[in-house]
Parts: sequence; structure tokens; C-alpha cells
Amino acid sequence: GSPEVLAGETDNVKVAVRCRPLSAQEIAQGHTTAIAVDEYNCTVEVKNPANKNDPPKVFTFDEVFGPDSQQMTIYNKVARPIVENVLKGYNGTIFAYGQTGTGKTFTMSGEMDQPTMRGIIPNSFVHICDHISKSQSDKRFIVRVSYLEIYNEEIRDLLAKDKEKKKNIDIRESPDIGVFVQNLSSVTVDTAEAMYNLMKFGSDNRQVGSTNMNENSSRSHAVFTVTVECSAGIGSEQHVTQGKLHLVDLAGSERQSKTGATGERLKEASKINLSLSTLGRVISALVDKNGKTHIPYRVSKLTRLLQDSLGGNSKTVMIANVGPATYNYDETISTLRYANRAK
Ligand code: ADP
Ligand code: MG
Repeated sequence: GSPEVLAGETDNVKVAVRCRPLSAQEIAQGHTTAIAVDEYNCTVEVKNPANKNDPPKVFTFDEVFGPDSQQMTIYNKVARPIVENVLKGYNGTIFAYGQTGTGKTFTMSGEMDQPTMRGIIPNSFVHICDHISKSQSDKRFIVRVSYLEIYNEEIRDLLAKDKEKKKNIDIRESPDIGVFVQNLSSVTVDTAEAMYNLMKFGSDNRQVGSTNMNENSSRSHAVFTVTVECSAGIGSEQHVTQGKLHLVDLAGSERQSKTGATGERLKEASKINLSLSTLGRVISALVDKNGKTHIPYRVSKLTRLLQDSLGGNSKTVMIANVGPATYNYDETISTLRYANRAK
């Protein structure tokens, strides 16, 4: 964990933007791109397709990745430093934010069949296992994983064998362990392959109910957590460190109130809006130079759950995903504004 809080520590929070390529379908339909990514200067420029006289809007971030960027480049630039810190015993969180269809799941999970298409989660498994296998023999590691989703402000255990028993589980707090989820499954693993199989098992368990899978998974936040415990020495000389890595595929950021949602869908939408706006406020409070802003962790389940992994010695990165096509203009601007505010 990270007991010590460094006021005004801003390097520990980074915001990156990734723009996916136009899809084959978008190309076939004749869509064009509204966005220009300058990886060297870390800027994203967006032109308003509806008004050619509008000056382009320019945003600057810590890192930006264009349509040709490779999965491994993103891992090395934004994820590797966070995982390194977790291996040293600190906490870290990586978020993928953005409208549905912009590449959050591609960035976090990716596709397994081709090594170059693997996302941050499988790459972090390989990194962690590699580190352990190369460590000195007096160090003993225990790696555990858990996987949950937050849907309608309710937590569900995605690794539970008996799904019914694990609906709407509670967040608790204790002086010695801090914030934790009661009775959440936690599985000890010792290979990257075992971790990957659990990720797949849990992803298949994500909220389903109506219409289609993608639509439903886009309404919940998925939090995959890897805990790395390391002990060295013996007897009274023994010391133990523990780092937690949270890998979060957020619910789609599209403003669902605009889509004419009613009833259950509208209720979901307001909860998604609440947790995403709270997350934005928490991150922006963390980078506040005065360090005096109240940090509203307790307003949503997501931020409450991640409370001890945001701020202090923990490292956080938010990857805001956008689509390049002109018809995405409004959502793209709204994502870039959110990401900009977060910093
Ligand atoms: P989200 O999780 O944000 O809804 P997905 O990750 O499911 O979006 O991406 C939507 C589609 O776009 C998928 O078919 C995915 O494979 C593809 N895609 C996303 N990002 C990229 C990328 N950088 N390169 C190639 N294909 C991508
Ligand atoms: Mg997705």
C-alpha cells in the first residue's frame, strides 16, 4: 500500500489519448477523419465537420497515440512505469475511458491470438511473471487476482463460481487492510497463462440481460486487480511489501440521456454519469497544485473502491480513447474535454 501522502505530487497522475484507426466499415462508407494527432508535441487537433470556419480545437496531454500506434508502444510508455511501481510495493491504476466503440477493450485486453494485438492486461501479466522469474531467490512472491464489475452502483464478483451468491457485494473498510470488497474471490496464480484464463472467465461473466453483449458491457465498469506480495529475509528480518494493480475498462462515456433512454436505461445512465464525473473530479483534485481540494472518493463505488490506489505514492494513468470519424465529433470533443479537465 501507499501510506504516505505527498501533497502536490503531480507526476503520479498522467492522462493519455489514443485515437483508433478508421474501421474497414467506416472507410467503406466513405467516412473521413476529423482528428490530427501529433505524437511528438503531444497534441490532438479536431476540426468541426459542421463548420469549416470554426478554428480547429487543440488539446495537449502527457502522451498521445495516433491511429498507427502499436499495443506494445502504449504498454511501454504508459503502463510499464505503473507496473514497475507495483512490483516495488506501491499501488497503481490504469483506466480506459471513452465512448463505446473507440477501443477501450482493445487497449486494455486486446486480442490474444496475435502477440502484437495483446493489450495492457495480458502484457502486464507477462511483465509481472518475467520480473518474478528473474528475481533473486531469497524473494518469495504471491500473486493474486480478482475481477469485478460495477453495474448500477452494484458490485458483482466476476470470478465467483456461483454467480447468484455474488451479486451486490459490499465495500468495507478496516484500519489494517484499508478499503476492501467483502467476500470477493481472490485467486492465487503463478503463470501469465493462468491469469489470462481468469481474465477470460470473468469477461464472459460480465453483465448480460438484454440485446447484445457489447451493449451491456458498455454500461458497467470492469475492474481487474492483480496483487503482488513479496517477502524477503527470514524470521525477524523478514519484510513484506504488497502492491496492487487495478486495470479498469470503464463504462462507455456517451451521454446516454441524449439517446432517448427511459426507465432502467435512464437509471443506468445517471449512475454511469455519476461515477465517471466523480472519477474526473477525483483525478483533477489529485493533480491540484495546492493539494487543498477535497477529494470526493465516497461519492461513487468506483472511486471508493480505488481510494487507496489513487493519490499518494500510487501511480495513475487515464487513457482516453477516441474515434477519428467526423460523425464522432461531439463525443470526441466531450472525451477530450473530460481528459483535459482530469489533468
Ligand atoms: P470499446 O471497448 O471502447 O467499446 P472496442 O475495444 O470494442 O471499443 O473497439 C471497437 C472495435 O474497434 C473493435 O472491433 C476493435 O477491435 C477495433 N479497434 C479498437 N481500437 C483499435 C486499434 N487501435 N487498432 C485496430 N482496431 C481497433
Ligand atoms: Mg468494451
